[in-house]
Amino acid sequence: MNTVDLRSDTVTQPTPAMREAMMAAPLGDDVFGDDPSVQALQERVAAITGKEAALFMPSGTQSNLCAMLSHCERGDEYLVGQNAHTYRYEGGGAAVLGSIQPQPLAQSASGQMSLADIAAAIKPDDPHFARTRLLCLENTWNGYPMPADYLDHATALAREHGLAVHLDGARVFNAAVAAGGDPYVAVRGIVDRFDSVSVCFSKGLGAPVGSALCGSRDLIRRALRWRKMLGGGLRQSGLLAAAAHHALDHHVNRLADDHALAQRLAQGLGGIDGLTVRSAQTNIVFVDVAQGRGPDLLAHLANDGVLATGLIGLRFVTHLGVDAAGIDRAIASTRRFFEQGGATPATRAAGTAVY
Ligand SMILES: *Cc1c(COP(=O)(O)O)cnc(C)c1O
Repeated sequence: MNTVDLRSDTVTQPTPAMREAMMAAPLGDDVFGDDPSVQALQERVAAITGKEAALFMPSGTQSNLCAMLSHCERGDEYLVGQNAHTYRYEGGGAAVLGSIQPQPLAQSASGQMSLADIAAAIKPDDPHFARTRLLCLENTWNGYPMPADYLDHATALAREHGLAVHLDGARVFNAAVAAGGDPYVAVRGIVDRFDSVSVCFSKGLGAPVGSALCGSRDLIRRALRWRKMLGGGLRQSGLLAAAAHHALDHHVNRLADDHALAQRLAQGLGGIDGLTVRSAQTNIVFVDVAQGRGPDLLAHLANDGVLATGLIGLRFVTHLGVDAAGIDRAIASTRRFFEQGGATPATRAAGTAVY
């Protein structure tokens, strides 16, 4: 029985066609700047996002870090959601490596920081304060697409105060597909408001490795220096860029399938007593499990070959490696758990949400 791995959309394996594309890629040495596959990818992603330049990155974490290091200097500050990836899930890199102070702000259940909180956190020019330089937003956040008018207002507010704005768009293609219409047009519409955007190829797009940071030529020149310093200068990385090209050719529109599977899961779980389905707007479904039984449910699911993450709130992520039959197995296994009264002994693996 094959495993239904709903822990993250990072678990996707490259398809046979993607592997072929990788093997066929023309290669150079990207530290010398002459890997044609990397060059072509960077130009393509810059064009998609409507930015002057793009830089291929080994990971989304390094991409966001290079963005923050390129926007800010030592003693500067960025405003960020308390539960945003760029604050909570990147090891404090901006502070550790850039001496950039985060100013985390509360987020609503769908990930929005209030405009009043953002305005109040922008410090006046006074030596008591760090210099507030950057606002970081995330789209999608925990599977929630950010409403266009929120993005308009938050970025306009930042600009009024002279802040730059960065989008952690690890899953921005999911937001674009959820918006409907041509996803490339939608992506452009979302990121037009931002000075820089980081996009992941290694999530729902299904590439094994890689992200891209996009922004002005000047910003990307600074980011290139940081990437080198961080050890992210790769050599024949056209192998990886080819996977990203393939993903852009073949795996963007199909994100709609992942969203439909998430809906199917949310609907199936919605009818079960003992849990509450929180959201399923794109490819992530959060489920609250009553009476601290989350870890027991996770263990029960794992026993049935269904993997998810979480503790009180469980997280299920759909991607190109799962199908409707797998989703139905997850639903059936969950239903059995509650019908049997949750009898599985708990194996309390240290579980935190992983991205
Ligand atoms: C996955 C993710 C990242 C980081 O990507 P890695 O490639 O895992 O370093 C950044 N932001 C968000 C919102 C993510 O989901």
